Order: sequence, then C-alpha cells, then structure tokens
Amino acid sequence: MKNSNFRIVPIRPEIAEAARRQAEAGSADHAVITADSPNGYPCRHCLRWAQPGEQLILFSFAAIAPGRPYSESGPIFVHAEPCERYAATHEYPPEFREGRVVRAYNSQRDLIAAEVANGEGPEAVIERFLEKPETAFVHVRSVSHGCYTMEVARI
Ligand SMILES: [Zn+2]
Repeated sequence: MKNSNFRIVPIRPEIAEAARRQAEAGSADHAVITADSPNGYPCRHCLRWAQPGEQLILFSFAAIAPGRPYSESGPIFVHAEPCERYAATHEYPPEFREGRVVRAYNSQRDLIAAEVANGEGPEAVIERFLEKPETAFVHVRSVSHGCYTMEVARI
C-alpha cells in the first residue's frame, strides 16, 4: 500500500480553549448548544461527531486568514468540555467520509480546485490535489452546509 502524502490538521488546542473561555464569559458570538442528532455537530478539535446530549460551542473561525480575496470566516463547533485533539494525523478521520467537498488553495490562499469527494473518497481527492506543486494546503468542508471541517497539509 502506498503511503499517503498528507497529514490532517485539526484546529489548534488554543482555538478550542479560547472558544470555551469566551462562551463561559457569555460572548454573544459564542453560543453554547446541545447536540440533538448524531451526525449534525462535528467537533473540529477531536474530529468526531458530538453525540446527542453533548454540549458544543458554536463560533466563527477564520479558516482562510484575513487579507486576501478568498479570506473566509464561518461557523464551527468544538466540544464545550475539553476533548482530545485528533491525533491519528496520517489517517483521514473515518467519521467524515460522507458529504464532504475537498478544496485546494495555493500559497496566496487562492482557491485553485474543488471537488466533491464522491465514490473514490476524500483521501484520493486530497492526495491528487497535493500532488500538484501549486497546492499549498487543502480544506475539507461540508457539502450541504459549506462549513469548514478540517485542514489537510502535505507531509
Ligand atoms: Zn471534540
């Protein structure tokens, strides 16, 4: 089996911790919500679906840093309780195989390719995008909601 050329980059622990502090302080732009379905609330830190009854923080995250035409912030969830950052970074998170679009960006943070990962699966699309030298990094997003799921970097 060939080795993959990617590593998964979940959001940094500092981001999740800051969101929890902001929510605790009552920031209007950090909502505390309770999951009410098993596949609607992905935590971007542990890269798992929150289970019904678990609490999450909903807040805006700058997936593409400001200052460029493709700069973008949007809503993401993290578990309200401390969770373990996704650690199997050489493996695509198995819980996010369905309903994902893969986007490639260049070093100027311009979007250069996007493809819905149907059939061949997210890994194959990610690997193909990262084989192109102009790809600097890849994002995985929800097809239905458009929300940022994770970054993927070249090894
Ligand atoms: Zn989590």
